[in-house]
Amino acid sequence: MRTPLIAGNWKLNKTIDEAVAFVNELKPLVADTAGVEILLCPVFTALAATARAAQGTNIQVGGQNLYWKDSGAYTGEVSAPLLLDAGCTHVIIGHSERRGRFGVPEPDLAGDAGRVFGDTDAAVNRKLHAALQHGLVPIVCVGETLGERNDGNTDTIVQNQTRAALEGVEAAQATGLVLAYEPVWAIGTGQTCESDEADRVCGVIRVTVGELYGQAAAEAVRIQYGGSCKPDNAADLLGRPNIDGALVGGASLKADSFAQIIRAAKA
Ligand code: PEP
Repeated sequence: MRTPLIAGNWKLNKTIDEAVAFVNELKPLVADTAGVEILLCPVFTALAATARAAQGTNIQVGGQNLYWKDSGAYTGEVSAPLLLDAGCTHVIIGHSERRGRFGVPEPDLAGDAGRVFGDTDAAVNRKLHAALQHGLVPIVCVGETLGERNDGNTDTIVQNQTRAALEGVEAAQATGLVLAYEPVWAIGTGQTCESDEADRVCGVIRVTVGELYGQAAAEAVRIQYGGSCKPDNAADLLGRPNIDGALVGGASLKADSFAQIIRAAKA
């Protein structure tokens, strides 16, 4: 049995006070949810205060990104040791908004949405090694754009991104990490991937892990779905055999909707 992980990715939202108020509101709503792991990923500036507010509860805190060096002349970056210092247990790596070519928006998404911050597969891999080396649980995101899906390349994209992210990772480490299938076209668009298809693609990722590390690792690794997961579709998605939780953006910004998703995982 894999314990579902429901993670809230707050992206560039919430002040320190707002983050702490959120934790205080969420705490009683999820106090009895044994059997589900709960994670909040605030902006860097709110990490330590969020972790302090969540101390002694079933709510964990993670970073949204990291750099692979521990310290040094890397302006604007944060490292695994500093995330641990702030109270983090997890870190999101390779979110689609961090991938792609810097400043070049995806053609099928409005504005500068999609893959915007330039992380390559190689960067994702280095970040994953840094997280594992320091004992942070990585949540590695993979997923295709609408154009890639329409061209019939979904499976190839997620297989390639998974393989590239896991390059050089040992089997013992692989079982502890979390992968997230996040179709880029479903993130923040209100357009959810239909649950059978989300489950199928999570299955493709699981088979890829099996090809790399064997059946036991494939069965142990947790694979989340992310992309417009909301209270009204969470139970359907989370009830699928290959989906072990959700990475939630928009619907994690309100304590009551996030709590409803957590409760859907428990049911
Ligand atoms: C995300 O940011 O990973 C995400 C899935 O966002 P949303 O739930 O808003 O689509």
